[in-house]
Amino acid sequence: MLDQAKKALKEYYGFDSFRPGQEDVISHIVQKKNTLGIMPTGGGKSICYQIPGLILKGTAIIVSPLISLMKDQVDALENLGISATYINSSLSSAEQQKRLTSLQHGVYQFIYVAPERFDHPQFLAIIKQIKLSFLAFDEAHCISQWGHDFRPSYRSIVSTISTLPNLPFVMGLTATATKEVIQDIQTLLAVTDNAVVNTGFARKNLSFHVIKGQDKQTFLKSYLAEHKHESGIIYAPTRKQVDSLSSLLKQKGYAVASYHAGLSEQLRQQEQNRFIQEEATIMVATNAFGMGIDKSNVRYVIHYALPMNIESYYQEAGRAGRDGEPSDCILLFSGQDIHLQKFLIEQSLMDTDKKTQEYKKLQSMINYCHTSSCLQQFVLQYFHDDSLKDGCENCSNCQQSGEQTDTTREAQMVLSCVKRMGERFGAGLTAKVLKGSKDKKIKQFGFETLSTYGLMEKETEKRITNFIHYLVAEGYLSTGDQRYPTLQLTKHAEAVLRGNQKIWMKQTSVKQQVSSDYDKGLFEALRILRKKIADQQGVPPYILFSDVALKEMSTYLPKTKQAMLSIKGVGEKKYQQYGEAFINEINTWTTANQTNKHDKKPSHLISYELDQAGYTLEEIAQMREVKEQTIMNHLYQCFQEGYKLEWDKFFSEMQEQAILTAQAELTEPKLKALKEKLGEAYSYAMIRGVLIKNKLL
Ligand code: ADP
Repeated sequence: MLDQAKKALKEYYGFDSFRPGQEDVISHIVQKKNTLGIMPTGGGKSICYQIPGLILKGTAIIVSPLISLMKDQVDALENLGISATYINSSLSSAEQQKRLTSLQHGVYQFIYVAPERFDHPQFLAIIKQIKLSFLAFDEAHCISQWGHDFRPSYRSIVSTISTLPNLPFVMGLTATATKEVIQDIQTLLAVTDNAVVNTGFARKNLSFHVIKGQDKQTFLKSYLAEHKHESGIIYAPTRKQVDSLSSLLKQKGYAVASYHAGLSEQLRQQEQNRFIQEEATIMVATNAFGMGIDKSNVRYVIHYALPMNIESYYQEAGRAGRDGEPSDCILLFSGQDIHLQKFLIEQSLMDTDKKTQEYKKLQSMINYCHTSSCLQQFVLQYFHDDSLKDGCENCSNCQQSGEQTDTTREAQMVLSCVKRMGERFGAGLTAKVLKGSKDKKIKQFGFETLSTYGLMEKETEKRITNFIHYLVAEGYLSTGDQRYPTLQLTKHAEAVLRGNQKIWMKQTSVKQQVSSDYDKGLFEALRILRKKIADQQGVPPYILFSDVALKEMSTYLPKTKQAMLSIKGVGEKKYQQYGEAFINEINTWTTANQTNKHDKKPSHLISYELDQAGYTLEEIAQMREVKEQTIMNHLYQCFQEGYKLEWDKFFSEMQEQAILTAQAELTEPKLKALKEKLGEAYSYAMIRGVLIKNKLL
């Protein structure tokens, strides 16, 4: 049986070896033992029940709490040529009936259902008659009332399924389980101790970072600039912040989707799909987003503010890197965020005991932001998981050992300045005083006479402000809880001012993940092809091939069936469907690139060829790793050299007319003046295009 399992792993999924825990779970199952598998998110739980379902005779019932997950899983199985379906309330009753009839005829190898389905007598009657291979509880922690996501409907089916005479055994799979939850699941599903497979919750491919004392927007802009084409989620605590961050990023030209409870159900669905279908690379959302999202190639999860506890943080951050590729989990910490979380606890309807518990959890979250030990280890220990013995070597704390500077003197300057300003002002004005700024507010309050005025004149105002944020994050200054935060000294500050305590500052930054040496241009071309096929088939792109598979293709350039089958994630089934299309793309790419190298073809002509081959401006920019504007300029140059251009992709007739009218009205027709007159909606590249087309430039 295990040999068969390995064969299926290669043939269907294109993987050579099992991940930790998978083989153990499968070996219990093929012996038909009730089994519980506990593995982290991205650990590969689906394969634990899908492979046995493929090998064993009969239909496997998968109980899943989330409708969106069911659809995703069924899409993925069907994509592998496996007969699977789901039945839930999102379907019309005619469709449900159709699927029930097929179920009765034993058509499906897998059927996904929500627990409520067991209340339907017809469904129960059918599954009692057919041959069943087993029943699996996905997200099995929902069965336990000790879990954070308890669903009574999950628990209540336990007694129902014990009346199924034809059910050989059951299994449970989960990524979150405390000791109590594990015990509870074991009792309910009659799983013996030796049939529990627990690999721990560590996620080796995730790098955790806490960024303190830096301006959040500045950090975000520079991080995103370095991760332009990668999918990521940014969590913000309030709807308002989601809206303002997403419009800021849209203005910067990013393809952004947003999601929060204030949007209509329809709009939320639409935004979620844009992210999953990779029309939007960034999802800005409140914590309402994410349950049931299976997107495997999320490369970063950024928390724009402090989450409420470690449970939710690890769950949200854990949505990064399900495909096992290196990914970042970044928390942008500022002392002020604590007030918002405290406010939310205070305002909630919880009783006093529960509130006290929530405050305790919040404190652990704050401690996470201040700890100097391994961040992942900190989280795992919080869950009583000691599997990570020596630190992850990836998080901001593990990476920066030794890189510390003594900043006691600077801290004393700041602290004494705050004191002299009467502890009534914010970081901005304090930085101005220390810098020795001529700002009129300084005159107004007479701060130019303070002994600390101009004390840090060699630093930039921005660096001083950041350093003040750092002192707040480290607890030497507090910001009060008024609407406009004012700096106040804490008791730790006194010790620093008296010279009894030193301050060592660690410089945190997020190092670029070292990625293997793959051809980035080809990777983009393959991504575009994947998206085109996925759109035609109405499935998410990552269901066709994972990013890992595309990166391997862009490294090894497979051009034969055999070479293609040696790529991780390409099995016989996938090859039959997509192999040739991808080989063709690799051939086209390598031929074009070789010619380019030989001919030393000018860059603008390469862009022109790609344009003529039917790629969009955005796609060409992605492949060539330059801005869209640069590609537009390349194409304009070609036009000036006599090549034909289809202008309607650059601007509409109305826009052209508006630009020409504005141009005619200006006495001195400079490009800058024209841009100012026309406003935001008209880019420089568009204006240039109109002028070039009309031979005005
Ligand atoms: P989970 O449900 O545990 O979060 P999934 O079942 O969605 O995880 O698997 C996460 C990713 O890992 C998927 O992209 C899957 O294809 C990949 N994966 C699973 N098992 C293996 C394996 N043995 N080798 C390589 N990749 C695997």
